[in-house]
Amino acid sequence: MQTQANPARTGADLDTIVALCKRRGFVFPSSEIYGGFGGFWDFGPLGVELRRNIKDAWWHANVQCREDMVGLDSSVIASPRLWQASGHVETFTDPLVDCRACHRRSRSDELDAGRCPYCGGEVTAERQFNLMFRTSIGPVEDTAATAYLRPETAGSIFVNFRNVLNTTRRKLPFGIAQVGKAFRNEITPGKFIFRDREFEQMEIEYFVRPEHAETAYREWIQARLEWYVGLGIRRENLSLYEQPASELAHYSRGTTDILYAFPFGVSELEGIAMRGDFDLAQHQQHSGEDLAYYDDVRNERFFPHVVEPSAGVDRSVLAFLLDAYREEADRDGTRTVLGLHPRLAPYKVAVLPLSKKEPLTDLSRQVSRELREHWMVTYDESQSIGRRYRRQDEIGTPFCVTIDFASLEDRSATVRDRDSMHQERVPIADLRRVLHEKLAG
Ligand SMILES: [Zn+2]
Repeated sequence: MQTQANPARTGADLDTIVALCKRRGFVFPSSEIYGGFGGFWDFGPLGVELRRNIKDAWWHANVQCREDMVGLDSSVIASPRLWQASGHVETFTDPLVDCRACHRRSRSDELDAGRCPYCGGEVTAERQFNLMFRTSIGPVEDTAATAYLRPETAGSIFVNFRNVLNTTRRKLPFGIAQVGKAFRNEITPGKFIFRDREFEQMEIEYFVRPEHAETAYREWIQARLEWYVGLGIRRENLSLYEQPASELAHYSRGTTDILYAFPFGVSELEGIAMRGDFDLAQHQQHSGEDLAYYDDVRNERFFPHVVEPSAGVDRSVLAFLLDAYREEADRDGTRTVLGLHPRLAPYKVAVLPLSKKEPLTDLSRQVSRELREHWMVTYDESQSIGRRYRRQDEIGTPFCVTIDFASLEDRSATVRDRDSMHQERVPIADLRRVLHEKLAG
Protein backbone atom coordinates (compact mmCIF):
# COMPACT_ATOMS: atom_id res chain seq x y z
CA MET A 1 0.00 0.00 0.00
CA GLN A 2 1.02 3.62 -0.35
CA THR A 3 2.32 5.53 2.61
CA GLN A 4 0.01 7.89 4.48
CA ALA A 5 0.89 10.80 6.66
CA ASN A 6 0.70 10.02 10.36
CA PRO A 7 1.00 13.00 12.65
CA ALA A 8 0.33 10.86 15.75
CA ARG A 9 3.50 8.75 15.65
CA THR A 10 5.90 8.70 18.54
CA GLY A 11 9.61 8.09 18.00
CA ALA A 12 12.64 9.56 16.29
CA ASP A 13 12.75 11.25 12.90
CA LEU A 14 14.57 9.54 10.06
CA ASP A 15 17.55 11.92 9.84
CA THR A 16 18.32 11.37 13.52
CA ILE A 17 18.40 7.61 13.06
CA VAL A 18 20.43 7.78 9.82
CA ALA A 19 23.01 9.95 11.60
CA LEU A 20 23.14 7.64 14.64
CA CYS A 21 23.51 4.58 12.39
CA LYS A 22 26.44 6.15 10.58
CA ARG A 23 28.13 7.63 13.65
CA ARG A 24 27.94 4.50 15.79
CA GLY A 25 28.41 1.83 13.13
CA PHE A 26 24.98 0.33 12.58
CA VAL A 27 24.61 1.07 8.85
CA PHE A 28 27.00 2.44 6.22
CA PRO A 29 26.28 3.26 2.57
CA SER A 30 27.51 0.36 0.43
CA SER A 31 30.98 0.91 -1.07
CA GLU A 32 31.03 4.36 0.51
CA ILE A 33 34.60 5.24 -0.53
CA TYR A 34 33.38 4.92 -4.14
CA GLY A 35 30.48 7.25 -3.50
CA GLY A 36 27.95 4.70 -2.30
CA PHE A 37 25.72 2.50 -4.43
CA GLY A 38 22.00 3.29 -4.56
CA GLY A 39 19.74 0.87 -2.75
CA PHE A 40 22.56 -1.10 -1.14
CA TRP A 41 23.78 -0.82 2.45
CA ASP A 42 26.49 -2.36 4.59
CA PHE A 43 25.77 -3.24 8.20
CA GLY A 44 28.55 -2.33 10.60
CA PRO A 45 29.66 -3.91 13.88
CA LEU A 46 26.49 -2.90 15.74
CA GLY A 47 24.13 -3.36 12.79
CA VAL A 48 25.21 -6.94 12.22
CA GLU A 49 24.45 -7.78 15.87
CA LEU A 50 21.03 -6.10 15.78
CA ARG A 51 20.11 -7.91 12.55
CA ARG A 52 21.28 -11.24 13.92
CA ASN A 53 19.29 -10.71 17.12
CA ILE A 54 16.13 -9.85 15.16
CA LYS A 55 16.50 -12.95 13.00
CA ASP A 56 17.23 -15.13 16.04
CA ALA A 57 14.18 -13.78 17.87
CA TRP A 58 12.04 -14.46 14.80
CA TRP A 59 13.41 -18.01 14.46
CA HIS A 60 12.96 -18.64 18.16
CA ALA A 61 9.30 -17.55 18.10
CA ASN A 62 8.34 -19.11 14.79
CA VAL A 63 10.41 -22.30 14.57
CA GLN A 64 12.02 -23.27 17.87
CA CYS A 65 8.94 -22.64 20.03
CA ARG A 66 6.46 -24.25 17.64
CA GLU A 67 5.91 -27.94 17.15
CA ASP A 68 4.34 -27.34 13.74
CA MET A 69 7.25 -25.49 12.08
CA VAL A 70 10.51 -26.48 10.37
CA GLY A 71 13.21 -24.44 8.65
CA LEU A 72 14.77 -24.27 5.20
CA ASP A 73 17.76 -22.50 3.65
CA SER A 74 17.58 -22.58 -0.13
CA SER A 75 19.86 -21.18 -2.84
CA VAL A 76 19.60 -17.53 -3.88
CA ILE A 77 19.75 -18.47 -7.57
CA ALA A 78 17.26 -21.16 -8.55
CA SER A 79 16.07 -22.65 -11.83
CA PRO A 80 14.51 -19.86 -13.93
CA ARG A 81 11.59 -22.24 -14.45
CA LEU A 82 10.62 -21.57 -10.84
CA TRP A 83 10.10 -17.88 -11.63
CA GLN A 84 8.23 -18.66 -14.83
CA ALA A 85 5.81 -20.89 -12.89
CA SER A 86 5.33 -18.32 -10.14
CA GLY A 87 4.53 -15.60 -12.67
CA HIS A 88 7.51 -13.40 -11.73
CA VAL A 89 9.11 -13.51 -15.21
CA GLU A 90 5.86 -12.33 -16.76
CA THR A 91 4.36 -9.98 -14.20
CA PHE A 92 6.82 -8.97 -11.45
CA THR A 93 7.03 -5.49 -12.90
CA ASP A 94 6.59 -1.86 -12.04
CA PRO A 95 5.32 0.68 -14.58
CA LEU A 96 8.19 3.01 -15.49
CA VAL A 97 8.56 6.32 -17.31
CA ASP A 98 11.60 8.34 -18.43
CA CYS A 99 11.84 12.12 -18.08
CA ARG A 100 12.46 13.78 -21.46
CA ALA A 101 14.19 16.72 -19.75
CA CYS A 102 16.43 15.29 -16.99
CA HIS A 103 16.37 11.62 -18.17
CA ARG A 104 15.69 10.30 -14.70
CA ARG A 105 13.44 7.27 -14.33
CA SER A 106 10.42 7.13 -12.07
CA ARG A 107 7.66 4.72 -11.24
CA SER A 108 4.44 5.91 -12.89
CA ASP A 109 2.75 6.09 -9.49
CA GLU A 110 5.37 8.57 -8.24
CA LEU A 111 4.66 11.20 -10.89
CA ASP A 112 3.67 14.66 -9.82
CA ALA A 113 0.51 15.54 -11.78
CA GLY A 114 1.74 13.40 -14.67
CA ARG A 115 5.15 15.08 -14.76
CA CYS A 116 8.68 14.20 -13.62
CA PRO A 117 8.87 14.30 -9.80
CA TYR A 118 12.47 15.64 -9.97
CA CYS A 119 12.22 18.50 -12.48
CA GLY A 120 8.58 18.72 -13.57
CA GLY A 121 9.54 17.75 -17.12
CA GLU A 122 7.46 15.82 -19.60
CA VAL A 123 7.70 12.03 -19.40
CA THR A 124 7.61 9.17 -21.93
CA ALA A 125 4.78 6.68 -22.26
CA GLU A 126 4.66 4.08 -19.51
CA ARG A 127 6.29 0.68 -19.96
CA GLN A 128 6.67 -2.35 -17.74
CA PHE A 129 10.02 -2.96 -16.06
CA ASN A 130 10.82 -6.36 -14.52
CA LEU A 131 12.28 -5.96 -11.02
CA MET A 132 14.26 -9.21 -11.01
CA PHE A 133 18.04 -8.95 -11.33
CA ARG A 134 19.26 -11.08 -14.22
CA THR A 135 22.53 -12.94 -14.37
CA SER A 136 23.87 -15.72 -16.55
CA ILE A 137 25.02 -19.13 -15.47
CA GLY A 138 28.14 -20.76 -16.91
CA PRO A 139 30.60 -19.47 -19.50
CA VAL A 140 28.10 -18.71 -22.29
CA GLU A 141 26.08 -15.52 -22.05
CA ASP A 142 23.02 -16.34 -24.10
CA THR A 143 19.36 -16.27 -23.14
CA ALA A 144 19.39 -20.00 -22.38
CA ALA A 145 21.84 -19.25 -19.55
CA THR A 146 19.73 -16.46 -18.03
CA ALA A 147 18.88 -16.86 -14.37
CA TYR A 148 17.59 -14.54 -11.67
CA LEU A 149 18.56 -13.51 -8.18
CA ARG A 150 15.49 -14.45 -6.16
CA PRO A 151 13.06 -11.56 -5.62
CA GLU A 152 11.66 -13.33 -2.53
CA THR A 153 12.51 -16.40 -0.49
CA ALA A 154 9.00 -17.89 -0.63
CA GLY A 155 9.32 -19.50 -4.08
CA SER A 156 11.94 -21.99 -2.94
CA ILE A 157 9.76 -23.04 -0.04
CA PHE A 158 7.02 -24.21 -2.41
CA VAL A 159 9.39 -26.15 -4.65
CA ASN A 160 10.73 -27.92 -1.55
CA PHE A 161 7.26 -28.75 -0.23
CA ARG A 162 7.48 -32.43 -1.18
CA ASN A 163 11.09 -32.79 0.03
CA VAL A 164 10.14 -31.44 3.44
CA LEU A 165 6.97 -33.51 3.58
CA ASN A 166 8.81 -36.73 2.68
CA THR A 167 11.74 -36.20 5.03
CA THR A 168 9.88 -34.92 8.10
CA ARG A 169 6.62 -36.94 7.76
CA ARG A 170 4.66 -33.82 8.71
CA LYS A 171 0.86 -33.78 8.86
CA LEU A 172 -1.23 -30.70 8.21
CA PRO A 173 -1.14 -28.10 9.54
CA PHE A 174 2.58 -27.34 9.38
CA GLY A 175 4.81 -24.57 8.13
CA ILE A 176 8.22 -23.98 6.61
CA ALA A 177 10.25 -20.94 7.62
CA GLN A 178 13.13 -19.34 5.78
CA VAL A 179 15.37 -16.33 6.40
CA GLY A 180 17.50 -15.07 3.57
CA LYS A 181 18.54 -12.40 1.13
CA ALA A 182 16.34 -11.33 -1.75
CA PHE A 183 16.92 -8.83 -4.54
CA ARG A 184 14.72 -6.40 -6.41
CA ASN A 185 15.90 -3.89 -8.96
CA GLU A 186 13.75 -1.10 -7.53
CA ILE A 187 13.36 1.86 -9.86
CA THR A 188 13.56 4.29 -6.98
CA PRO A 189 15.04 2.80 -3.81
CA GLY A 190 14.97 5.09 -0.82
CA LYS A 191 13.91 6.06 2.66
CA PHE A 192 17.21 4.73 4.03
CA ILE A 193 16.96 0.94 4.46
CA PHE A 194 13.18 0.88 3.93
CA ARG A 195 13.27 0.15 0.21
CA ASP A 196 16.52 -1.59 -0.76
CA ARG A 197 17.63 -3.43 -3.86
CA GLU A 198 19.24 -6.10 -1.69
CA PHE A 199 17.34 -6.99 1.45
CA GLU A 200 16.61 -9.87 3.76
CA GLN A 201 13.31 -11.58 4.35
CA MET A 202 11.86 -13.75 7.10
CA GLU A 203 9.12 -15.78 5.44
CA ILE A 204 6.76 -18.57 6.39
CA GLU A 205 4.54 -20.75 4.26
CA TYR A 206 1.98 -22.34 6.54
CA PHE A 207 0.08 -25.25 4.96
CA VAL A 208 -3.44 -26.08 6.11
CA ARG A 209 -6.58 -27.89 4.99
CA PRO A 210 -8.56 -25.44 2.81
CA GLU A 211 -11.34 -25.11 5.39
CA HIS A 212 -8.81 -24.08 8.06
CA ALA A 213 -7.13 -21.31 6.06
CA GLU A 214 -9.23 -18.45 7.39
CA THR A 215 -8.62 -19.40 11.04
CA ALA A 216 -4.89 -19.86 10.48
CA TYR A 217 -4.76 -16.49 8.70
CA ARG A 218 -6.35 -14.70 11.70
CA GLU A 219 -4.05 -16.50 14.13
CA TRP A 220 -0.94 -15.56 12.18
CA ILE A 221 -1.95 -11.90 11.98
CA GLN A 222 -2.30 -11.86 15.76
CA ALA A 223 0.90 -13.81 16.40
CA ARG A 224 2.97 -11.59 14.16
CA LEU A 225 1.54 -8.39 15.64
CA GLU A 226 2.32 -9.64 19.15
CA TRP A 227 5.89 -10.49 18.13
CA TYR A 228 6.68 -6.84 17.38
CA VAL A 229 4.98 -5.62 20.54
CA GLY A 230 6.75 -8.27 22.63
CA LEU A 231 10.09 -6.97 21.37
CA GLY A 232 9.30 -3.42 22.36
CA ILE A 233 7.51 -1.69 19.47
CA ARG A 234 4.83 0.56 20.88
CA ARG A 235 1.38 -0.76 19.98
CA GLU A 236 0.19 2.72 19.02
CA ASN A 237 2.80 2.84 16.27
CA LEU A 238 1.46 -0.38 14.70
CA SER A 239 -1.75 -0.86 12.77
CA LEU A 240 -3.42 -3.46 10.58
CA TYR A 241 -4.58 -2.85 7.05
CA GLU A 242 -6.78 -5.44 5.40
CA GLN A 243 -6.49 -5.05 1.64
CA PRO A 244 -9.85 -4.63 -0.11
CA ALA A 245 -10.74 -7.25 -2.74
CA SER A 246 -9.91 -4.78 -5.52
CA GLU A 247 -6.23 -4.64 -4.43
CA LEU A 248 -5.72 -8.40 -4.14
CA ALA A 249 -3.91 -10.61 -6.64
CA HIS A 250 -6.33 -12.88 -8.51
CA TYR A 251 -5.43 -15.98 -6.46
CA SER A 252 -5.39 -14.23 -3.09
CA ARG A 253 -8.17 -14.86 -0.56
CA GLY A 254 -7.05 -12.04 1.70
CA THR A 255 -4.01 -10.00 2.69
CA THR A 256 -3.41 -8.01 5.84
CA ASP A 257 -0.45 -5.69 6.22
CA ILE A 258 1.10 -4.89 9.57
CA LEU A 259 1.89 -1.20 9.27
CA TYR A 260 4.37 0.86 11.24
CA ALA A 261 4.16 4.62 11.67
CA PHE A 262 7.48 5.45 9.99
CA PRO A 263 8.46 9.16 10.01
CA PHE A 264 7.83 9.27 6.24
CA GLY A 265 4.34 7.82 6.67
CA VAL A 266 2.49 4.73 7.78
CA SER A 267 4.01 1.91 5.71
CA GLU A 268 4.15 -1.85 5.44
CA LEU A 269 6.33 -3.74 7.87
CA GLU A 270 4.98 -7.19 7.11
CA GLY A 271 2.29 -8.77 4.95
CA ILE A 272 0.22 -11.82 5.86
CA ALA A 273 -1.42 -13.35 2.80
CA MET A 274 -3.91 -16.14 2.27
CA ARG A 275 -2.72 -17.55 -1.06
CA GLY A 276 -5.10 -20.48 -1.55
CA ASP A 277 -3.48 -23.34 -3.46
CA PHE A 278 -2.13 -21.12 -6.24
CA ASP A 279 1.59 -21.80 -5.71
CA LEU A 280 1.54 -25.57 -5.31
CA ALA A 281 -0.88 -25.93 -8.25
CA GLN A 282 1.29 -23.71 -10.46
CA HIS A 283 4.47 -25.61 -9.63
CA GLN A 284 2.80 -28.97 -10.17
CA GLN A 285 1.55 -27.82 -13.55
CA HIS A 286 4.93 -26.42 -14.68
CA SER A 287 7.15 -29.18 -13.25
CA GLY A 288 4.91 -32.14 -13.95
CA GLU A 289 5.69 -33.40 -10.43
CA ASP A 290 2.98 -34.38 -7.99
CA LEU A 291 2.84 -31.75 -5.23
CA ALA A 292 -0.50 -32.75 -3.70
CA TYR A 293 -0.86 -33.76 -0.07
CA TYR A 294 -2.28 -37.15 0.83
CA ASP A 295 -4.39 -37.39 3.97
CA ASP A 296 -4.19 -41.07 4.90
CA VAL A 297 -6.93 -40.83 7.54
CA ARG A 298 -9.55 -39.43 5.21
CA ASN A 299 -8.00 -41.05 2.13
CA GLU A 300 -8.01 -37.71 0.31
CA ARG A 301 -5.52 -36.13 -2.07
CA PHE A 302 -5.56 -32.34 -2.37
CA PHE A 303 -3.48 -29.17 -2.46
CA PRO A 304 -3.20 -27.60 0.99
CA HIS A 305 -4.00 -23.91 1.22
CA VAL A 306 -1.26 -21.62 2.40
CA VAL A 307 -0.93 -18.64 4.73
CA GLU A 308 2.20 -16.57 4.13
CA PRO A 309 3.53 -14.19 6.81
CA SER A 310 6.33 -12.29 5.08
CA ALA A 311 8.51 -9.89 7.09
CA GLY A 312 11.56 -7.82 6.19
CA VAL A 313 14.69 -7.82 8.31
CA ASP A 314 15.78 -4.37 7.11
CA ARG A 315 12.40 -2.75 7.72
CA SER A 316 12.33 -4.37 11.15
CA VAL A 317 15.79 -2.97 11.92
CA LEU A 318 14.54 0.49 11.00
CA ALA A 319 11.30 0.20 12.98
CA PHE A 320 13.05 -1.14 16.09
CA LEU A 321 15.63 1.68 15.97
CA LEU A 322 13.04 4.41 15.40
CA ASP A 323 10.83 3.13 18.18
CA ALA A 324 13.65 2.65 20.68
CA TYR A 325 15.24 6.10 20.28
CA ARG A 326 14.61 8.71 22.93
CA GLU A 327 16.24 11.83 24.28
CA GLU A 328 15.96 12.68 27.98
CA ALA A 329 16.92 15.80 29.84
CA ASP A 330 19.49 15.16 32.57
CA ARG A 331 22.09 17.01 34.68
CA ASP A 332 24.58 17.31 31.82
CA GLY A 333 22.09 18.31 29.16
CA THR A 334 20.54 15.56 27.10
CA ARG A 335 20.88 11.84 27.41
CA THR A 336 20.26 9.84 24.21
CA VAL A 337 18.97 6.36 24.89
CA LEU A 338 18.32 3.52 22.49
CA GLY A 339 15.81 1.64 24.63
CA LEU A 340 16.11 -1.58 22.63
CA HIS A 341 14.66 -4.77 24.09
CA PRO A 342 17.59 -6.60 25.78
CA ARG A 343 17.10 -9.46 23.34
CA LEU A 344 17.78 -7.13 20.41
CA ALA A 345 20.50 -4.93 21.91
CA PRO A 346 23.81 -5.40 20.03
CA TYR A 347 25.79 -5.61 23.27
CA LYS A 348 24.14 -6.92 26.42
CA VAL A 349 26.86 -5.75 28.78
CA ALA A 350 29.66 -3.17 28.79
CA VAL A 351 32.59 -3.67 31.16
CA LEU A 352 34.13 -0.37 32.23
CA PRO A 353 37.17 0.01 34.48
CA LEU A 354 36.94 3.29 36.43
CA SER A 355 40.54 4.07 35.53
CA LYS A 356 42.89 2.97 32.77
CA LYS A 357 45.46 1.84 35.35
CA GLU A 358 46.46 -1.63 36.37
CA PRO A 359 45.44 -3.60 38.33
CA LEU A 360 41.89 -2.27 37.56
CA THR A 361 42.25 -3.08 33.90
CA ASP A 362 43.48 -6.59 34.65
CA LEU A 363 40.46 -7.37 36.77
CA SER A 364 38.12 -5.69 34.24
CA ARG A 365 39.52 -7.72 31.36
CA GLN A 366 39.13 -10.88 33.38
CA VAL A 367 35.46 -10.05 34.15
CA SER A 368 34.87 -9.16 30.50
CA ARG A 369 36.44 -12.42 29.34
CA GLU A 370 34.19 -14.48 31.60
CA LEU A 371 31.00 -12.67 30.56
CA ARG A 372 31.87 -12.94 26.86
CA GLU A 373 31.29 -16.66 27.05
CA HIS A 374 27.61 -15.88 27.52
CA TRP A 375 26.82 -12.59 25.80
CA MET A 376 28.13 -10.01 23.39
CA VAL A 377 30.20 -7.84 25.72
CA THR A 378 32.03 -4.62 24.95
CA TYR A 379 34.98 -3.26 26.90
CA ASP A 380 35.70 0.46 27.10
CA GLU A 381 38.39 2.22 29.16
CA SER A 382 38.67 5.59 27.39
CA GLN A 383 37.35 8.92 28.74
CA SER A 384 35.30 9.67 31.83
CA ILE A 385 32.89 7.11 33.23
CA GLY A 386 29.96 9.48 32.61
CA ARG A 387 30.79 9.75 28.91
CA ARG A 388 31.21 6.02 28.65
CA TYR A 389 27.77 5.45 30.18
CA ARG A 390 26.32 7.88 27.62
CA ARG A 391 28.01 6.04 24.77
CA GLN A 392 26.51 2.75 25.91
CA ASP A 393 23.04 4.34 26.39
CA GLU A 394 23.18 5.60 22.82
CA ILE A 395 23.77 2.12 21.37
CA GLY A 396 21.26 0.43 23.65
CA THR A 397 23.53 -1.61 25.95
CA PRO A 398 21.16 -2.66 28.78
CA PHE A 399 23.82 -2.99 31.53
CA CYS A 400 27.19 -1.52 32.38
CA VAL A 401 29.50 -3.25 34.84
CA THR A 402 31.95 -0.81 36.44
CA ILE A 403 35.10 -2.01 38.14
CA ASP A 404 36.50 0.54 40.61
CA PHE A 405 39.28 0.60 43.21
CA ALA A 406 36.99 -0.86 45.89
CA SER A 407 36.45 -3.84 43.56
CA LEU A 408 40.02 -4.90 44.24
CA GLU A 409 39.18 -5.20 47.93
CA ASP A 410 35.54 -6.36 48.07
CA ARG A 411 35.55 -8.34 44.76
CA SER A 412 32.33 -6.56 43.76
CA ALA A 413 31.33 -4.38 40.82
CA THR A 414 28.66 -1.76 40.14
CA VAL A 415 25.90 -2.79 37.77
CA ARG A 416 24.12 0.13 36.14
CA ASP A 417 20.75 -0.14 34.41
CA ARG A 418 20.41 1.72 31.09
CA ASP A 419 16.78 2.75 31.51
CA SER A 420 16.51 3.63 35.21
CA MET A 421 20.24 4.51 35.66
CA HIS A 422 19.87 2.65 38.96
CA GLN A 423 23.18 1.30 40.28
CA GLU A 424 23.76 -1.65 42.56
CA ARG A 425 26.76 -3.42 43.97
CA VAL A 426 27.09 -7.07 42.93
CA PRO A 427 29.81 -9.57 43.93
CA ILE A 428 31.88 -10.41 40.85
CA ALA A 429 31.27 -14.09 41.51
CA ASP A 430 27.50 -13.47 41.13
CA LEU A 431 27.66 -11.23 38.04
CA ARG A 432 26.76 -13.94 35.59
CA ARG A 433 23.68 -15.06 37.52
CA VAL A 434 22.49 -11.52 38.30
CA LEU A 435 22.93 -10.33 34.70
CA HIS A 436 21.21 -13.45 33.44
CA GLU A 437 18.18 -12.70 35.61
CA LYS A 438 18.13 -9.03 34.66
CA LEU A 439 18.46 -9.75 30.92
CA ALA A 440 15.68 -12.31 31.06
CA GLY A 441 13.51 -9.53 32.52
ZN1 LIG B 1 13.01 15.30 -14.92
